[in-house]
Amino acid sequence: MSLLKYQNKRDFKTTTEPEGKLVQSKGNPLFIVQKHAASHLHYDFRLEVDGVLKSWAIPKGPSMNPAEKRLAIMVEDHPYHYKDFEGLIPEGNYGAGKVIVWDSGTYGLIAASGEDSSKITLNSELQKGRVHIFLEGKKLKGEFTLVKFKSKKDDSWLLIKSLDEFATTSDILKEDRSVISNKTLEDLV
Ligand code: MN
Repeated sequence: MSLLKYQNKRDFKTTTEPEGKLVQSKGNPLFIVQKHAASHLHYDFRLEVDGVLKSWAIPKGPSMNPAEKRLAIMVEDHPYHYKDFEGLIPEGNYGAGKVIVWDSGTYGLIAASGEDSSKITLNSELQKGRVHIFLEGKKLKGEFTLVKFKSKKDDSWLLIKSLDEFATTSDILKEDRSVISNKTLEDLV
């Protein structure tokens, strides 16, 4: 149901991307960042919920520097099995270009002070336009907040690193290799 937009945009006879069914992790929910050299290079940030991956395209990529707020444009939900997708989406297909899994790990929701953490879900926080999360990845670590723009088109968000012990001004995007295959985009054929 939630994957219709994803499926309608793609021809699974010509792309190797997963067609997708609703699947859920056994343990903590996953986050994934894919580096995607489509017509414009961007990073796709995904959070697992209810059997799908909520997805944002981040043109400048995520940052571990709290001073660098990164535009994140919400796109269609992707299937759970997209978490492992690496390869070349052939010319003529939606999102044609190379994809690697740049980072992955698990995430948790952080409740606002005074709020009951057992009552919040990713979907409740998305509704509020403010999602405070803790990432346990190889590259992205610690607290982040996704904040929805009120004034702009309603698919525009900002991904902002919190000032915590993991925050750094060093350029994390220089760590170019996939956490899954150890490949860079240039290694893909
Ligand atoms: Mn993409």
